[in-house]
Amino acid sequence: MAAEQPKKKTKWYADGLRFECTQCGACCSGEEGYVWVDKNEVLAMAKKMQLSESEFRKKFVRRVGSRHSLVEYPDGDCILLDPKTRHCLAYEARPTQCRTWPFWKSNLTSERTWEETCQACPGAGTGKLYTLEEIEHQRKLKRV
Ligand code: SF4
Repeated sequence: MAAEQPKKKTKWYADGLRFECTQCGACCSGEEGYVWVDKNEVLAMAKKMQLSESEFRKKFVRRVGSRHSLVEYPDGDCILLDPKTRHCLAYEARPTQCRTWPFWKSNLTSERTWEETCQACPGAGTGKLYTLEEIEHQRKLKRV
């Protein structure tokens, strides 16, 4: 008789989760935080904004230990969030950390952390249904 296969642990979001951005800009502002960027992301954003890499770094990037993050305004707004329109100035070239929101490991830890995410982000929990595979793909792109 064959040994019983160990049961695969199912994710609490196995049936998928809904998300559709309302472009409110809330995830680009608020408490102090970091938007981690690598060289390729800096190059893509600089290109989008028609700046050289060094111009872009000088204006928008800060060093944090051995890593680099986008600068913030004193009130916590991301430096790339247009204060008037509340839209991202580099949206099409935004970094992976922004692209994969709200499917971050930290938001998906439990139903409670997802609930908190839904309270902070009006687009989370509504709109398009993402499958488990799509969510897992995004979650694994960046550890946040
Ligand atoms: S907080 Fe949510 S709905 Fe608002 S801009 Fe960010 S992702 Fe979109």
